[in-house]
Amino acid sequence: GVRPLIAGNWKMNGTLAEAIDLARSVAAAPPQKADLLVCPPFVHLVPVAGALLKTEVALGAQDCHAAGKGAHTGDVSAPMLADLGARYVILGHSERRADHGETDATVRAKAEAALAAKLIPVVCVGESEAERLSGQAESVVATQLAGSLPQGFAAAGGVVAYEPVWAIGTGRTPTEEDIAAMHARIRAELGAEGAGLRILYGGSMKPSNAAGILALPNVDGGLIGGASLKADDFLAIAKAV
Ligand code: 13P
Repeated sequence: GVRPLIAGNWKMNGTLAEAIDLARSVAAAPPQKADLLVCPPFVHLVPVAGALLKTEVALGAQDCHAAGKGAHTGDVSAPMLADLGARYVILGHSERRADHGETDATVRAKAEAALAAKLIPVVCVGESEAERLSGQAESVVATQLAGSLPQGFAAAGGVVAYEPVWAIGTGRTPTEEDIAAMHARIRAELGAEGAGLRILYGGSMKPSNAAGILALPNVDGGLIGGASLKADDFLAIAKAV
C-alpha cells in the first residue's frame, strides 16, 4: 500500500516562537512509519521552513490562490509557496468553504494552480451533520469530489482528506464503519486512478482514537487540527500508524 501521511493543520493558531518550537519538536522525533507534514499559517511558513531544513518533516500551506500572480491583494500564490519550500497545500477546507464562500469550482481552480506549481494539493471534502442524518453523506462527498478534483489529480499525487464538518473540533467522530464506508466510496469515485490515492481522515482525531481509525481499510493517514498543536499528541498519532 501507499505510505501513510500524518498532517497537522495548525489553522490560525500560535505565536511565531510557538510555531518554531512546535516544528522543532515534531522534527526531533525518530523516523516514523508515516510521512509527517505540518501546515502553519502563512506568516509562519518561512521561519518554520528554516526549522524543518534537513529534516524529514514536510511543509504545507493552508490555502493558495488560483492565479499564479497578479493583482490579488492579500492573497498568496502556489508558486510563492513552492518557492519558499512548501511541498503541500490544503485546499477546500470546510472552514474556507464556510468563511470565504469557496465552492467546488474554486477549489478545483486552486488545485490546478497547485499542481502547476508542483505542490501536492490536499483537497478536503465532507458532509454536514444534517446531510449525514438524512442519509446523503456519501452522495454529497461524491459531488464534492467530482467538482473539486481536476483531471489527473490522483495520478499527480493529489491527496483527499475526508473531514465530516460535524466532527471538526467537536470531539465527535463517525463510527469506524462509517469512516471505512466513506473512504471506500471515495476511492471508488476515482475509478482506476483511485488505486494509489492517499485518503486521509480528519475530524477530532487524537491519540486515543487514532490507532482504530488508521487501521481501517482505505484510510491512508490523518489530517489533524487541535491535536497537531501539541507535539506529543501529534507524534502519538503518527506512532499509531
Ligand atoms: P480537529 O482535529 O481539531 O477536529 O480539526 C480537524 C481539521 O479540521 C483538520 O483540518
